[in-house]
Amino acid sequence: MLMEYEPVIGLEVHAQLLTKSKIFCGCSTTFGEDPNALTCPICTGQPGSLPVLNKKAVEFAIKLGLATSCKIASYSLFARKNYFYPDLPKGYQISMYEYPLAEHGYVDITTDGRKKRIGLIRIHLEEDAGKLKHGETPETASSSYIDFNRTGVPLVEIVSEPDIRSPQEAGDYLRKLRSLLQYLEISTGNMEEGSFRCDANVSVRPKGQKEFGTRTELKNMNSFRFVEKALEYEIKRQTEVLKEGGEVVQETRLWDTSEGITVSMRGKEEAHDYRYFPDPDLVPIRIEEPWVEGIRKSLPELPDEKKERFVRDYGIPEYDAEILTSTRAMANYYEECARLFPEPKTVSNWMMGDLLRELKHDEKEIDQCPVTPHHLAEMLSMIKSGTISGKIAKDVFEEMYRSGEKPGKIVKEKGWTQILDTGEIERAIEKAMQANPKQVEDYRNGKEKLFGFFVGEVMKQTKGKANPQRVNELLKEKLK
Ligand SMILES: [Zn+2]
Repeated sequence: MLMEYEPVIGLEVHAQLLTKSKIFCGCSTTFGEDPNALTCPICTGQPGSLPVLNKKAVEFAIKLGLATSCKIASYSLFARKNYFYPDLPKGYQISMYEYPLAEHGYVDITTDGRKKRIGLIRIHLEEDAGKLKHGETPETASSSYIDFNRTGVPLVEIVSEPDIRSPQEAGDYLRKLRSLLQYLEISTGNMEEGSFRCDANVSVRPKGQKEFGTRTELKNMNSFRFVEKALEYEIKRQTEVLKEGGEVVQETRLWDTSEGITVSMRGKEEAHDYRYFPDPDLVPIRIEEPWVEGIRKSLPELPDEKKERFVRDYGIPEYDAEILTSTRAMANYYEECARLFPEPKTVSNWMMGDLLRELKHDEKEIDQCPVTPHHLAEMLSMIKSGTISGKIAKDVFEEMYRSGEKPGKIVKEKGWTQILDTGEIERAIEKAMQANPKQVEDYRNGKEKLFGFFVGEVMKQTKGKANPQRVNELLKEKLK
């Protein structure tokens, strides 16, 4: 009998919070400084130094908790997670264990037009570790270097329920979570720079079975595409192991980007291996209701609310609204454009079509788009007033995107203004008729299909600039 298997996926995301200073000391969190320039006795774990909690980091984590409908804890506590690694100077990482800041929330996603709610187990704060750099030149090949600038930078860890059932859902969940962080302005969400990292727990089980299979943990996936690819590979690998009657080994596996496979890294540690215990250097955190309420009131309009408002107020399809609200910058671009050219559906069509296609092709974000909302709105006004045709507008758009110039200037310089002048169009029609007397006769004898041929001839003569509607009207008259 052929057994069908389904994957069960849970994700752990670490996002770097955009505080000015580190979580337990006053060192700056600036990216790209000289190695070890941003360190002090506290973040390098010198004996006798004492950590002091950064209130902003707590506030940011609460923001995220509220935005994901979590229950915010009234009492929270930092613990020490003990392990040895050269990038961890204290020999333990300060994290939260039994008392996280927020629990039992959710993130709603849409995959293939289908809505789904992904539960969140918890959100907690922790400090980042340092960065190891292994010798990359022949002279330094036998050495390793440690940069402690990142040590003590605040991270928020978001642990999902094992509610995800496909690599695509995992990707959609991550994109939505990143969008939330960006809307809240608490993290850049930049995966390539390591400000947004994801580990995945994945197992497979026969369809219909309630119990979970043995899971593996996947690490080292530094783009959304790699997360999806690594999951696809791992699901296939585990399914094959089970089909052949084997057993999946619980372990941590690394995604190998160049080979496109996951490879075993180490046996999986359990929580007890870390000997967690409350950090005696840090007092417990009491979170009072008025503070939480104040933060709640300060929350911006979030993607889901914005999407609903776009559908309601601009009358655009839900699909368009979903994409146009996927980042705050994109939503702002759209609203600015729709304010300047108040035909929201037209604006949405151009953004969803030409604009996003060009950006995707160049792997650019909307805030790097050479076409400003003002330029796009001006071009749409030119179509509306008949100055340019919709067809020419495609070329104008391309040119705007390439050069960053105003549409008015481009149209003028290229001589792309649409011909509305009746006299000029009539002259083109007469020429076309004189050049094709046989076709004129055939048309007049009932071969009406030839009408399109004449439209084409007139367009050829006017280099595609004649207003199509006027060409139609005048041609009908002349060919009678
Ligand atoms: Zn420091």
